[in-house]
Amino acid sequence: MTPTQGFATRAIHAGQAPDPATGAVIPPIYQTSTFVQDAVGSMRSGYEYARSGNPTRIALEQQVAALELGTHGIAFASGLAAEDAVLRALLHPGDRVVLGNDVYGGTHRLLDRILRPWGVRVQVVELTDPSAVDSALAAGDTRVLWVETPSNPLMKISDIAALARAGHAAGAHVVVDNTFASPALQQPLTLGADIVVHSATKYLGGHSDVLGGLVVTSDDTVAEQIRFLQFAAGGVLAPMEAWLTTRGIKTLDVRMQRHSANAAAIALQLAGHPAIARVHYPGLAAHPGHEIAARQMHAFGGMLSVTVHGGASAALRLAEGTRLFTLAESLGGVESLIGYPSEMTHASVKGTPLAVPDDVVRFSVGIEDVADLQADLDQALARL
Ligand code: PLP
Repeated sequence: MTPTQGFATRAIHAGQAPDPATGAVIPPIYQTSTFVQDAVGSMRSGYEYARSGNPTRIALEQQVAALELGTHGIAFASGLAAEDAVLRALLHPGDRVVLGNDVYGGTHRLLDRILRPWGVRVQVVELTDPSAVDSALAAGDTRVLWVETPSNPLMKISDIAALARAGHAAGAHVVVDNTFASPALQQPLTLGADIVVHSATKYLGGHSDVLGGLVVTSDDTVAEQIRFLQFAAGGVLAPMEAWLTTRGIKTLDVRMQRHSANAAAIALQLAGHPAIARVHYPGLAAHPGHEIAARQMHAFGGMLSVTVHGGASAALRLAEGTRLFTLAESLGGVESLIGYPSEMTHASVKGTPLAVPDDVVRFSVGIEDVADLQADLDQALARL
């Protein structure tokens, strides 16, 4: 799909036409579970029951599809509900899914603890190593190649276009979890991916007040299967959540610019600090994925992680030592958060090939004044 308007314009206007009934500039929240029928089967605007369709949810679905340059958007009650629908739409018992060795812990848990017992084979690979990907795909039974880039929490960068070519040659659907970049910074469908998934809980919502998930694709058949699961399994996004997400998205473009600028400044600050062994941020020239990221992203985003000197105890002191960076799960909100992935977001992958080292601390850099964020980090690092 070729956009006729710029990204920021689409973010504000796609799916957001004024309410035809009242002229309200902001489309209302249709907080209703059901819709009147004038005679049996005679609906006024095609709406029947909110699990199959609600105008507020559909407004969000159109908005996000326009941002990802896809033709279908499908909204769910959480990012994991969206992932579950995608995986169940595409996979059958005996099929293989290949995924990177650094992904959100809950994605691995869904595959390993729910889909594997149903007969799906799960193979973890180093997605930044093309020969490892080729040999994983060689068996010919891979139906899904699952890509998360930048990855959570080590910020690995995978080449979406190259993986799309490899996946398609092997007969697999290529799915990209675009949560960390958001469509403001990266549009995987334009690079050859088939499906994009989001935890809308993060940058799309942007204010840490919503749990939601989105799927976008331009494949009509796949969209129909996922939409059927949305309706038949029922993990739909509620109207209030859909409305808050549409509101958040209207500032996505400016937020992502500020998140990226603040994170870049903090990455440089941390890279020069003696307590830090390594900074994982694709905007740094020394990052192994820097060149690919510069090619496929418009900016490098607000997420970064560090490996600290002094092991787990130093990492815990840092994670518990900040004042402005709040110690909490999640990411992508306007406020800065700090996390200790091995015991928090990635506790479920302890002991698996996806286990996160215990000397890693993750930052979701918010859009506060960067000098205040840097002062907070300085005081926390001084106490390590
Ligand atoms: N994908 C990524 C990259 C995430 O970080 C998360 C949650 O942290 C999810 C998916 C799952 O989203 P949700 O928590 O909205 O279910």
